Amino acid sequence: LRYDTYGDSRASDDESFKNARRVAEHYSARSNQTLEEREASPIIHLKKLNNWIKSVLIQLYARSKDAVLDIACGKGGDLIKWDKAKIGYYLGVDIAEGSIKDCRTRYNGDSEQQQRRKKFGFPARLICADFYEVPLDKYLQDDAPFDICSCQFALHYSWSTEVRARQALANVSALLRPGGIFIGTMPDANVIVKRLREDQLDVQYASLNFLLQHSYLTKLCMQDAVDCPEWIVPFHVFKSLADEYGLDLVFAKNSHEFVNEYLKKPEYAELMRRLGALGDGNHDQSTLSQDEWDVAYLYLAFVLKKRGQPSSG
Ligand code: SAM
Repeated sequence: LRYDTYGDSRASDDESFKNARRVAEHYSARSNQTLEEREASPIIHLKKLNNWIKSVLIQLYARSKDAVLDIACGKGGDLIKWDKAKIGYYLGVDIAEGSIKDCRTRYNGDSEQQQRRKKFGFPARLICADFYEVPLDKYLQDDAPFDICSCQFALHYSWSTEVRARQALANVSALLRPGGIFIGTMPDANVIVKRLREDQLDVQYASLNFLLQHSYLTKLCMQDAVDCPEWIVPFHVFKSLADEYGLDLVFAKNSHEFVNEYLKKPEYAELMRRLGALGDGNHDQSTLSQDEWDVAYLYLAFVLKKRGQPSSG
């Protein structure tokens, strides 16, 4: 495993650069939780539900031997999911150096949680970089093209400016092979703006952070607060921007719709049972609370496909 650092050399005092630094510092400062601390979180079942959504997306689209680009990979929380899909190569990119270090520890099997686990079955490279700031195709030309790009709970950080939102999509498009798949999860702007209106909050300040701090969800979310700027992504604009970069929408589903649809499939129902996020539908202490279910409603899952024919062989 190689560990590279890239992208911090641009001296800039513009607002978007400062915001990106704040995001990086926020996530870098988050310490790795022990298993006990994680289980004690008031939103543990929401985290499990989110893990289930990510697992289903991966199982739906990853094929054995795939080359995977995990954009904003964080501490490597999805490494095991990719291993189960028997991928052939993994490149993880994140702006937060602390998260990349934790991800490396997890990959190398040094962490408390990983010690009894077998080694991952794929080679990996981890890079600390701002994926939304500069073209990365030349820098990553030896790793590309990828069969799958994944960006979980992180693409909205590119929506601080149009330039960054475009750069994110340009990088994905340049690094994916024709026919390759882009999967992700992010805040659902439709739901968020609706909620802001219902709570009579000022829509001009529409951001996920703003909503979480000012609505009835405050108490729950502040216990696991994200203390950095977060933007919402109007989906129709996202769809047409993606189209400009040769990425066609396969589907976008709010988390509630996603859960209701895929929970009907026995293999995913079994996975949910093993993760322990949802029980038999009754919201008791051992399963997802109504508040956690309401927070899940603020997110969506999307799948895009890079235009063009995959090359044969
Ligand atoms: N994808 C991981 C997961 O699902 O567990 C982490 C999600 S966490 C909510 C958001 C991640 O986005 C953080 O690790 C953060 O450092 C990363 N991030 C935010 N802006 C980024 C950028 N410009 N380039 C790369 N990573 C970024």
